[in-house]
Amino acid sequence: MKKVVILGGGIGGTIVANKLAKKLSKEIDEGKVKITVLDMKNYHVYQPSQLLVALGLEDYDQIVKDERSLLDPKVEFISGDKGTVTKLDLPNHRVFTAGEAVYDYDYLVIATGSHLAWDEIPGLRSKELSVWDLNDVMKIREVLDNFKGGTIVVNVARLPIKCPVAPVELTLMLHDLLVKKGIRDKSRIIYTYPAPGVFGIKQANDMFIEMFKERGIEIVSPFIIDHVEGNTLISQDGEKIGFDLLLGAPPHKGAEVLRDSGIADRRNWVSVDKYTLNVKGYDNVYAIGDTTDLPISKAGSVADFESGPVSENIVHDILGIGGKELYDGSVFCFCVGGIGTSSYIRYNYSFVLPVPKPTTTIWWMKLMYNRMYWSLTARGVV
Ligand SMILES: Cc1cc2nc3c(=O)[nH]c(=O)nc-3n(C[C@H](O)[C@H](O)[C@H](O)COP(=O)(O)OP(=O)(O)OC[C@H]3O[C@@H](n4cnc5c(N)ncnc54)[C@H](O)[C@@H]3O)c2cc1C
Repeated sequence: MKKVVILGGGIGGTIVANKLAKKLSKEIDEGKVKITVLDMKNYHVYQPSQLLVALGLEDYDQIVKDERSLLDPKVEFISGDKGTVTKLDLPNHRVFTAGEAVYDYDYLVIATGSHLAWDEIPGLRSKELSVWDLNDVMKIREVLDNFKGGTIVVNVARLPIKCPVAPVELTLMLHDLLVKKGIRDKSRIIYTYPAPGVFGIKQANDMFIEMFKERGIEIVSPFIIDHVEGNTLISQDGEKIGFDLLLGAPPHKGAEVLRDSGIADRRNWVSVDKYTLNVKGYDNVYAIGDTTDLPISKAGSVADFESGPVSENIVHDILGIGGKELYDGSVFCFCVGGIGTSSYIRYNYSFVLPVPKPTTTIWWMKLMYNRMYWSLTARGVV
């Protein structure tokens, strides 16, 4: 029997598992193939909507669902201690977990995402609320409901972060929210970013800077936060910014277990071949989604695009079919231009498509996609 073990039942892991289960349905029924997903938790979060929930535009229970119910019934799902991966032994094809369960595999897919490294910035966790943290999204909604005016700072601590455009989206939507509440003139919005500008892709960066200027949003960049003292951010250069409300993205890194296993860099991002997504040195091990060290956005769409070639190549290998499918670096991200409008960014390793001006139509497409995610994307249908 060929065993495929998938580490992480988030966006990437779930899509790969469901695609494999469809393509290998007969072989699973015949006992020739087994697919297992391991995750520390038993629920699945559609993180792109954490931002909308924090701003009161979607509901919490629309974005958190039971993982078992999303997975094809033919996929084995193990969560809790027995699903919490603590050690990998790649030369011997084995995965160890906190519950002392050990899993052998023929093929391994690593999709353990990115993790928030709050402790790297002294004082940050006790002062900042973050839409990157599921535990904070309802708190942000409450704080914004009660906000009567003052200085809001949106801080990006370090790069990379998942969904690099989300801090810009948050800032533009905050502006609209304060206008709606009639308190924009009693408030300052300050956006701080650790590199020059507000975003990494030039064409979109120029557009967003223009939009920030039109809305009176202040930009402080590059601003590399060192620590937080009271209600003040202090940069590595000693620059100080005061705030009444601090929102932002803490530093990100990959799962600790990956570096301990010798396949990741010092931020725990896994070193992969940019086309095959094989973990370097291991033909039967793949990594997808946020956890890779690829120089492209950490985004759900990336995990989705990557799931195609990875599942296809595992199937080809198991069925003895020749040929390799390659990942072309595809990224697609909606980027909200305020409450009720959105644009998008589409690029791959070879080209960047022009970024359109935000429109209401694209906003509705985004909201529609958020619903379709559960019935189509997550289930590996498209
Ligand atoms: C505010 C916000 C807005 C975003 N907006 C967008 C957007 O508009 N478009 C877009 O494409 N993307 C967006 N994203 C990014 C997107 O959600 C992530 O890039 C995507 O979830 C990555 O998928 P993944 O499978 O790599 O990781 P995840 O979906 O994070 O899944 C990782 C899984 O691994 C599990 N895990 C981790 N470590 C272990 C371990 N040691 N043992 C067992 N299990 C483990 C976790 O529990 C989790 O279930 C946004 C994210 C945020 C936070």
